[in-house]
Amino acid sequence: MSLLTFFTRRNKEPDTPEPDMPLVPTAPAHEATNSPKVLMRFLTHGGAAVEVYEPAESPKYTLRCLGCDYDFSSTTSTYVREDANAHASNCRAMPKPTA
Ligand SMILES: [Zn+2]
Repeated sequence: MSLLTFFTRRNKEPDTPEPDMPLVPTAPAHEATNSPKVLMRFLTHGGAAVEVYEPAESPKYTLRCLGCDYDFSSTTSTYVREDANAHASNCRAMPKPTA
């Protein structure tokens, strides 16, 4: 037995085709097509986003902090925008873990 035998790569597995992988990553569940449209975002001190949504099912603008789940709604977009900005200025929540 020569030394070359130890270093010769043997391919015992037949070539198997790659599993079908989507070329474009699929959208996460919270980005479904029927989710409300985000009008603006504010950044908290911890790096989470506070999102302001346009009215969808009710005539109210809403905001949600994606770090601490704080929410607020009003029919006046100015109130929601100001509250989102004020919350982002005080909130120290970090983005939620994904796993
Ligand atoms: Zn928050």
